[in-house]
Amino acid sequence: MKIYIDGKFHDRGEAKISVLDHGLLYGDGVFEGIRIYNRKIFKLTEHIDRLYHSAKAILLDIPMQQAEMEQAVQETVSINAKVDGYIRLIVTRGEGALGLDPAPCEKPSVIIIAGDIQLYPQEYYEKGIAIITAATRRVPADSLDPRIKSLNYLNNIMAKVEAKQAGCLEAVMLNHEGYVSECTADNIFIISRGTLLTPAPHYGALDGITRASVIEISQSCGIPQRDTALTRYDLYTADECFMTGTGAEIMPVTKIDGRPVGDGKPGSMTKRFIDGFRNLVLQNNP
Ligand code: PMP
Repeated sequence: MKIYIDGKFHDRGEAKISVLDHGLLYGDGVFEGIRIYNRKIFKLTEHIDRLYHSAKAILLDIPMQQAEMEQAVQETVSINAKVDGYIRLIVTRGEGALGLDPAPCEKPSVIIIAGDIQLYPQEYYEKGIAIITAATRRVPADSLDPRIKSLNYLNNIMAKVEAKQAGCLEAVMLNHEGYVSECTADNIFIISRGTLLTPAPHYGALDGITRASVIEISQSCGIPQRDTALTRYDLYTADECFMTGTGAEIMPVTKIDGRPVGDGKPGSMTKRFIDGFRNLVLQNNP
């Protein structure tokens, strides 16, 4: 595996950054997770746009233009001859001093890793998964905007640990007001009386790229869709529920906090979205 760091490729064992990098010391940085399907990168421009927006919001000046960044990602995929896989693109604040102040960090580090994707077993897509509500709340949007895909995932990690302790793969997180925000690494949707509903980003959700694809599919199929406030009651009484994310794609959720969703099986509209997403990938990455 060849890993890109600041314009150069290194073997995996040689790919190293400073222990004084504020990405390590404080989680000061931003990142993206991107899929490679059939040698082609899926929604690359959208991911690069989000990366640059995240960086701008935290006053992190990425030391290359977006077009150059796209090229570096493409190059990393080609050099590793990846057919299907997962790209982790990271920009850290860079090497600095032992203090929070980012001022001594002169140059952000750009790291690109093109690896294999850990897929969920196919049976989960056929049967759906059970999730719980985590006690750990999402960091309020007025403290750290959830649209910033930062290297600070401790909040999500604690909720993920709760899910694992409860014997589940994922947990849904509420915001500080008790509204549903998202899962630990995925957005959440429900279908209620034929309408597709999902929390707006200001409830504490990342503006997911798979989320946007699902909304696009709903529009092309004429399925009504709304960004809205959702409570746990809405999840418990939904007809269907699914999660979306770059890694999981579209995963049916068939049980929430011990309550079966609908009839406890992936619903017909969820299956339409799974098929619609498959077609979108095939159209983009033939
Ligand atoms: N929410 C969080 C917290 C995430 O980390 C992710 C990405 N894994 C998502 C939602 C899904 O976003 P995307 O569809 O852009 O991968």
